[in-house]
Amino acid sequence: MLIKDGIPTKEDLAAVLPSEERLAKGPVAITECFQNIACNPCVAACPQHAISMEPDINATPKVDPDKCIGCRLCVKACPGLAIFVVDMSRPEDKALVTIPFEFLPVPQKGQLVCGLNRAGEEQGWFKVTQAVSGGKKNMTWMLTLEVPKELAMEVRNIKVGGYRDGE
Ligand code: SF4
Ligand code: SF4
Repeated sequence: MLIKDGIPTKEDLAAVLPSEERLAKGPVAITECFQNIACNPCVAACPQHAISMEPDINATPKVDPDKCIGCRLCVKACPGLAIFVVDMSRPEDKALVTIPFEFLPVPQKGQLVCGLNRAGEEQGWFKVTQAVSGGKKNMTWMLTLEVPKELAMEVRNIKVGGYRDGE
């Protein structure tokens, strides 16, 4: 339960996950931000005005999946590391999951990393297809991982260090 261990319940997640139909169309942001806190950089970061908070800054963010183009700018803007972008539109059985990352070392494109679920449990080894810095003044990296589609809604972190070279 979120309030006890920080892990969202199925009900929490059901409230923020896009429909399967939308997921199949292309990358889309998922805000796993469930507590009423005064925070809104995600709203300002979105060039599509796809993220809203009603009635005020204390509300949790809502993504309009029809406006979101999956650009990932909100991922690096979120201080809570609570936004992920999932792309289920690829024809093969792999999805792309972009996660925020603020530890060292940062894995490189092509390396394999151990993916973790929201509870910190290992899910397997996945290739990093992109590692993008948040910029000179932003320590948040955006890592895009190639994961089996059935794990796209599970993998939300990686184990720091011990990365392997991919084949
Ligand atoms: S991924 Fe881009 S378009 Fe989608 S909500 Fe985030 S900033 Fe907006
Ligand atoms: S920036 Fe992150 S932590 Fe802040 S409201 Fe948006 S999703 Fe939540």
